[in-house]
Amino acid sequence: MSKQQFIKVGICNKYQTLLEECERAWTSWKERRGEISQLRMVSKNRGDELQTLQASYARAYTFLENHAPNCSLCQLVARIEGRDPENSSGALFL
Ligand SMILES: [Zn+2]
Repeated sequence: MSKQQFIKVGICNKYQTLLEECERAWTSWKERRGEISQLRMVSKNRGDELQTLQASYARAYTFLENHAPNCSLCQLVARIEGRDPENSSGALFL
């Protein structure tokens, strides 16, 4: 038992930042979408706003997805955790 140690792996800073951006973008999109879906009439402005939010989430998500396969630290973490970086796109927030 005493020999068992958890390997404390810090996620790479870049990944962490991208993840936070992605989460932030996703949250504001989701919240806005929730608000707007309560409205009976959706003006064009609101529709555009929602599209912008969705686009920035999609962009953040793409950055996040593209990061890991190109980052040796993230690949190392993935290997230690037994994840396959090639296959790790796993619908994080979708
Ligand atoms: Zn990384």
